Amino acid sequence: MARIIRCECGYVARGDTDDEVIDAIRSHMKTDHPALLETVGQEDLLDWIQVE
Ligand SMILES: [Zn+2]
Repeated sequence: MARIIRCECGYVARGDTDDEVIDAIRSHMKTDHPALLETVGQEDLLDWIQVE
């Protein structure tokens, strides 16, 4: 089962595990939304995960 996180900008991070998809969205936010990254915790990221 693939996991995805949809960013507010429309970007979709994908991964095979929770850790992979969180890594993917973190690296996207680091380049595109550095200010947002500082306000988002691990629990928020886990909440955003959708299973496809
Ligand atoms: Zn984004």
